Amino acid sequence: MTAEYKVNDFLLDIVFPNRCPCCDCFIAWNKTVCAECEAKLSEHLAVPAEIISAFVYTDIVVDGIYALKFAYGRNFARHSAKITAVSLDKNFDFIVPVPMVKRRKTLRGYNQAEIFAHYLSRETSIPVKKNALIRVNETKQHLLSETERKKNAEASYANGRDDIRGKRIYLADDVCTTGATIYACTKLLYAAGAKLVKAVVCAKT
Ligand SMILES: [Zn+2]
Repeated sequence: MTAEYKVNDFLLDIVFPNRCPCCDCFIAWNKTVCAECEAKLSEHLAVPAEIISAFVYTDIVVDGIYALKFAYGRNFARHSAKITAVSLDKNFDFIVPVPMVKRRKTLRGYNQAEIFAHYLSRETSIPVKKNALIRVNETKQHLLSETERKKNAEASYANGRDDIRGKRIYLADDVCTTGATIYACTKLLYAAGAKLVKAVVCAKT
């Protein structure tokens, strides 16, 4: 802040007393938020969540993603892996698939994110680390509002046993729509000490 701006802000404060934008309380002329709100805001700092996607989730891409639910659909994961692998850094430490609800995984026999992670690994030689994230609770995600989904996604994952401290990780998933799941997983991986997390998906809205 230059001296001129400081004087301006100080004088402006006399006419229009400075207020906290979050709670509307009065604050010193040189503050931007009150101490209480600053502490609250620090709990909501954004986690950098870069997402690398092979396709935009539209048109026949939707069919490809749908096909992933069946054995023949593996080709779509493989095709997407080939496309995204070109822009991946081969020196990353692990590829971590987004975990799936246990009951659903058993029904279909496999996790689409794991299949995509497998092909990404084949293209890049980066090893897959399956249990870095474990889903701990099941809720009917599709019945929730977007805010509820975000909350649920955060509550639904817990760190697994694997040591990910200081590691650079590609988080793999089949599709990214609201981004809530990827955001929650990224946040957890950082909380567990990951050095860098980037998401890789077959398709993104
Ligand atoms: Zn405030």
